[in-house]
Amino acid sequence: MKVGILAIQGDFYLHKKSFDIIGVETLFVRKFSDFKEIDSLIIPGGESTTMSLLLSKYKLDEVLYDFSLDHTVFGICAGSILISKNSNDKRIKNLNIMQFDSVRNAWGNQINSFSDYINIKESLNIDDFYTTFIRAPKFINVDPSCEILASYNSEPVLIKNKRHLAASFHPEMGDDTRLLEYFLKFANE
Ligand code: GLN
Repeated sequence: MKVGILAIQGDFYLHKKSFDIIGVETLFVRKFSDFKEIDSLIIPGGESTTMSLLLSKYKLDEVLYDFSLDHTVFGICAGSILISKNSNDKRIKNLNIMQFDSVRNAWGNQINSFSDYINIKESLNIDDFYTTFIRAPKFINVDPSCEILASYNSEPVLIKNKRHLAASFHPEMGDDTRLLEYFLKFANE
């Protein structure tokens, strides 16, 4: 399994560091042909408006969407905004890979960043998961095609559909790699 990490903006490097610890090969994805080399894709946190602009500019949005038809994509924070169906910012060209809407910065601005324990569904076998929210989006209008895997203050923060995952927090920060390991398992199913 080679994991692609979209590396046009944002905190792609921390993802590589986490997968290095797990011992999984990664590739920074920056061009069309990179999609042929990878088995799954992480869209990292960063700035969704900038990433959306760059995806269009480099004409990567279509190849990314086509890739998602038969491969797992994991959108994290800004990445989850991109893969959602709609968001509350006209500058974002949503990829519409997962059927939910995202509300940018709804957990607060940069200054309101926080870390806390989230509630993860028992079947994932990940208890006491402490994680970080940075200008995190909220997920609303979650379609029945999606399942809520984790919540915080009774709001969804990690959801999946048949093939894809979206998290509003940052599983690549800190040294707890359990959720990224779950993603690898999920992508391999
Ligand atoms: N609020 C940012 C955005 O809308 C996402 C922040 C993040 O990825 N940590 O793009």
